[in-house]
Amino acid sequence: MRVAVVGAGIMGASCARWLAEAGHETTLFDAHQPGHVLGSSHGGQKIVRQAYPDPFHTALLLEAHPLWRELEEASGLELYHEVGLAYIAATSSGQTREMAAILEHLGVPYQEVAALPSSMSLSADETAILTPEAGWVSTVQALAGTLMLARRAGASFVHQKVESVHELDDFDLRVFAAGAWAGRLLGLRLVPTLQTSAYIRGRYEGPVWIEGFGPELYGFPNEPGSDAFKIGFHATGPEANLESTARPVQNDQLATLVELAKQRFMIQEPEVVSAFACIYTRTRDEHFRIGFLEPGTIVVSACSGHGYKFAPWIGRMVSRMATGEAQPPPEFAITEADRISS
Ligand SMILES: Cc1cc2nc3c(=O)[nH]c(=O)nc-3n(C[C@H](O)[C@H](O)[C@H](O)COP(=O)(O)OP(=O)(O)OC[C@H]3O[C@@H](n4cnc5c(N)ncnc54)[C@H](O)[C@@H]3O)c2cc1C
Repeated sequence: MRVAVVGAGIMGASCARWLAEAGHETTLFDAHQPGHVLGSSHGGQKIVRQAYPDPFHTALLLEAHPLWRELEEASGLELYHEVGLAYIAATSSGQTREMAAILEHLGVPYQEVAALPSSMSLSADETAILTPEAGWVSTVQALAGTLMLARRAGASFVHQKVESVHELDDFDLRVFAAGAWAGRLLGLRLVPTLQTSAYIRGRYEGPVWIEGFGPELYGFPNEPGSDAFKIGFHATGPEANLESTARPVQNDQLATLVELAKQRFMIQEPEVVSAFACIYTRTRDEHFRIGFLEPGTIVVSACSGHGYKFAPWIGRMVSRMATGEAQPPPEFAITEADRISS
């Protein structure tokens, strides 16, 4: 089959890899060079994990998470850092108890702790759920490894903006993994928002952490060789202007990140080494949208906010969808409510 994949972010790259490895003649298109900083797949570090605070995503991750080790082995690149992940919440909220029950039920290893194996402070009324089989992936290495495997399997890259769905009608199958741009290109109701991250001077050695049940912030240990650690803002930011190449840092978000560094690490005056904004692509229900837009056209998009950790699994899923061997979960279906014309 001749397949066109639009978008060389992590989703498109992964689709191209798995489609090419399945023997399809695959061409990957992108308006920019891979690794650019205008979309969602950059930023140095992304959380990968084996658990969510809900059973639906946790069950999917049992299949998806091992594919990071598979990517590491297949590419020969060191890209996954299994440092563990801590979900922090007020004990009184009952949220850590609820999460523990889900993990217990699905057999995901975890510990419920009142202190973390790191320099990070929990307050007296906080508890953390620590999942050791989690950590972070290097965005540079993951994209490089995925594209290398795609090329090795015969995929080719074309630096070209695709202007419409039907521009690629010569191909037997079209896969649109256009990130935040998918809304306008495909006529889908998606909202791109600006999310700020900051690198704070200092050393943090410990698990990735998510303040997942409250103000929705998260952070990482230092990347090897770096003297700063990253904290990110997950709660909804303002709408992004995709016509512009500016990705302005949001000062209110940055101030929240600095406050978190003070609170968690007892740093009196946190020094912001650098800050940047990246794009989340939000759907009406925060579920991904993966499915056939029409016969011969697959959409893989709106995975922002939390899609990165699923990228190898989504790539493999799309290669199986191409031959009718698999279907995505119904929760990800594209319905009339997602289409702008409806
Ligand atoms: C700040 C931030 C932190 C995040 N943290 C995490 C995390 O810790 N863990 C996690 O699991 N997820 C995380 N995510 C979400 C994750 O990064 C995204 O789900 C994922 O990167 C989306 O990848 P993508 O390939 O769909 O989009 P993108 O990376 O945006 O790629 C889309 C590509 O399509 C190209 N394109 C668009 N339109 C066209 C066109 N018409 N023609 C040709 N090319 C086109 C673009 O140039 C772009 O390269 C985070 C996102 C952000 C913004």
